[in-house]
Amino acid sequence: MEKSSEVSGFYKKPVEERLKFIKEHAGLTDEEMATLRDTGGLPIGTADRMIENVIGGLTLPMGLAVNFRINGKDVLVPMVIEEPSVVAAASNAAKMARAKGGFTASFSGPVMIAQVQLVEAPNPELAKKTILEHKQDILEICNKQDPMLIQAGGGAKDVEVRVLDTIKGPMVITHLLVDTRDAMGANAVNTMAEAVAPLIEEWTGGRVYLRILSNLAVHRLARAMAVFEKEIIGGEAVVEGILNAYAFAEADPFRATTHNKGIMNGISSVVLATGNDTRAIEAGAHSFAALKGRYTSLSKYEKDADGNLVASIEVPMAVGIVGGATKTHPAARIALKIMDIKSAAELAQIIACVGLAQNFAALRALATEGIQRGHMGLHARNVAVSAGATGELVDKIAEQMVKEKKVRADRAKELLEEYTKKK
Ligand code: NAD
Repeated sequence: MEKSSEVSGFYKKPVEERLKFIKEHAGLTDEEMATLRDTGGLPIGTADRMIENVIGGLTLPMGLAVNFRINGKDVLVPMVIEEPSVVAAASNAAKMARAKGGFTASFSGPVMIAQVQLVEAPNPELAKKTILEHKQDILEICNKQDPMLIQAGGGAKDVEVRVLDTIKGPMVITHLLVDTRDAMGANAVNTMAEAVAPLIEEWTGGRVYLRILSNLAVHRLARAMAVFEKEIIGGEAVVEGILNAYAFAEADPFRATTHNKGIMNGISSVVLATGNDTRAIEAGAHSFAALKGRYTSLSKYEKDADGNLVASIEVPMAVGIVGGATKTHPAARIALKIMDIKSAAELAQIIACVGLAQNFAALRALATEGIQRGHMGLHARNVAVSAGATGELVDKIAEQMVKEKKVRADRAKELLEEYTKKK
C-alpha cells in the first residue's frame, strides 16, 4: 500500500518523534537511525532551531586549503565540499601563486540592494520622480528599522528608481541601497523594504507587491588577482593553453558554465564552511556572469610583458560573519576563527581568491594533462569505498583501476573480490 506523505503538525513534534515516524515509514535500520542521529559538530537541538522538521544531519568533510597568501598575509582556508580534488587543486594553485607574492584582493563594500515592486501607478514616470523626491524620507524610515546595523556603521545610503517594461505593463522598481556591514543582510534589507512600501503606495497611488533583496549584488563585488610565473606553471605552452581555454569560456556559454562551475567549487565550499548562503552566492555569480547580455566567464586571463599569466576575477560576494548560520553553526564559527576573519569584507576577498585559484588549477589541468588524471585518482578512491573496500584495499584498488583506466564500480567489485580472496 502506498504510504502517505501527508503529515499534519510534523513541525510541532519533537525530533525523537519525527525520527520514530521516519524509521517506520522508510523501514530504517538501527544503524541507519544512528547515522541520522549523528549530527556531527552540530548539536541536534541547534539543528532543530535552524530549519524545520529536522530528522538528523548530513556531515560533509571540511578540508583545509593551504598555501594561500592574500594581500601579503598567509591564510589557511577551510572548505566544505563532497567532491574530491577541489581542496588539493586550490592548495596547489595557491602554492604556484606564491612565487609572485600570492593573491591581491579588494572589495567594493558591503552594499546590498532591496527591491520594492510598484504596479498600477497611474503615471509611472511621475511615480519615479515622486519616489526620488522622497529619497531623504525613505532613507530616514529605513534607518529607523535596524539600530544595531546603524551602530555597526551601516544603513540605507541611497535610492534608485527604474521604470520597467513588463508583460504585465510598466512597473516602478525602487532599489534601496543598504550598507549591511558584516551581515549578509537579507533580513535587514527586507525589513527596510517592507517599511517603506506603504509610503511608496501613498505617494504614487500605485500598489506594492514584492519587497525583497536582490541577489544580484552588483554593489558588493569581491575582486582578486594573481600572477602565475610562466616557468612555475609549466612554461609558455601552458600559458597559451590556459589563454586558449579562457578565450573558449569567454566566447561560449556551454564552456563558460563549466568554467564558472569550477570557480564555484572554490567559492561555494568556503561559503558553506562559514555557514553562509551558497544559493545566494551562486545565483548572484551566474547572473553577474550574464550581466552584459551574454553568459560568459567570471574570470579573466591575460599575459604580462614577461609572458607570465595574469589571472583575475570579479564576483558579487554577499557573505556575512554575523547573523544566519554563520553564528549558529559551531563549525562555521571555527572556520571563521581558522581564517582569523574580522570582517565580512575580508571573508569576501578570501572567497574570491579561492574561486580564482580553483579556476586556475582546473584550466591548467585541462590545458595540460587533462582533468581526468588528477581527478580520477581521487575519484577512484570513492569508487573503491562504494564497492565496499576498507583500509589499505582502498588505495590498492584505486591505483589498479587508474592504471587500467577502468575507474568503475564493477571493476572495483571484481578487484575487491580478487584481493580479499588472496588475503
Ligand atoms: P540576521 O538578520 O540574522 O543578522 C543581521 C543583523 O545583525 C543586522 O541586521 C544587525 O541588526 C545585526 N548586527 C550586529 N552586528 C552587526 C555588524 N557588525 N554588521 C552588520 N549587522 C550587525 O542576518 P542577515 O544577514 O540579515 O540574513 C542572512 C540570512 O538570510 C541568510 O542565512 C540567508 O540564507 C537568509 N535569507 C536569504 C534571502 C536571499 O538570499 N534571497 C532571503 C531571505 C533570507
